[in-house]
Amino acid sequence: MGTILLYYKYINIQNPQEIANWQRSLCEGLHLTGRIILAHEGINGTIGGTDQACQNYIDAMNAHELFQDIDFKTADGGSESFPKLKISIKNEIVRLGVDPSQVTVKDTGKHLTPEQVHELLTNRPDNLIVLDTRNDYEWQVGQFTGAELPNIKTFREFPEYVEKNLERYKDKEVLMYCTGGVRCERASAFLVQKDIAKNVYQIDGGIHRYIEKFPNGHFRGKNYVFDERITVRANADILSTCLHCDTKSDDYTNCLNAMCNKHYTSCQPCIERLGNSCSQHCQMLVATKQTVERDSRSSLRK
Ligand SMILES: [Zn+2]
Ligand SMILES: [Zn+2]
Repeated sequence: MGTILLYYKYINIQNPQEIANWQRSLCEGLHLTGRIILAHEGINGTIGGTDQACQNYIDAMNAHELFQDIDFKTADGGSESFPKLKISIKNEIVRLGVDPSQVTVKDTGKHLTPEQVHELLTNRPDNLIVLDTRNDYEWQVGQFTGAELPNIKTFREFPEYVEKNLERYKDKEVLMYCTGGVRCERASAFLVQKDIAKNVYQIDGGIHRYIEKFPNGHFRGKNYVFDERITVRANADILSTCLHCDTKSDDYTNCLNAMCNKHYTSCQPCIERLGNSCSQHCQMLVATKQTVERDSRSSLRK
């Protein structure tokens, strides 16, 4: 068992290609796998390897003038948590679909520590809206109690959701949250720029840091993550049900029909009954070889 590192930093990067080349040689030398996204606006990474390799990576980042003082979040895992190393250069480090020069972290919402968030939610003011910035399949298995849960499939739909519901946030305190904090940096800036809410907050380190401090707190269920673990359980609450029956289940699987590949929660008996297919139709297609089976080694992800 090794370590998984999750981190991001919004910092002006003049030459992302140069940084990408450096990151590639650094990670390959340390046998780290995972995914790193670079843009002019910063860096966003989820990588895994041995404990020592991860520590060497952190040391190398701290020695670089652009990447000091990053809040590295860690989890148990390792290079086996990711199929390979993927380093890409994009327009945004998380795709909000809004020009990075228009919505920048200079307008970001106020960071609250997990302790401050816990206090705020324990003595919850009437004018507080807790706003989940994640996708539906993420909040279905874990969420803060009483949160507003947008019906969105990707983060790119979030700005439109906010635009449509803008009046709702008038003179309100809005606390945003996401997995590890990176999405809220610009999502909160987007709302701050609308100048309608009284205050806009975000959780420093997201759900990850909150449940480290308060595993049995105001966040219930599982934190959806973007590696082979799929989800990380915070506490015993199960918020979702099996696609096929009413049994409580928050275990994700993907349909065995590779052409379908639906990502859904299922109880174990229904997985067995339907041959890990999302429907009798998919089961029939697999059984009669009218489709190909999903590679069992491929990741169970959205
Ligand atoms: Zn079931
Ligand atoms: Zn299917």
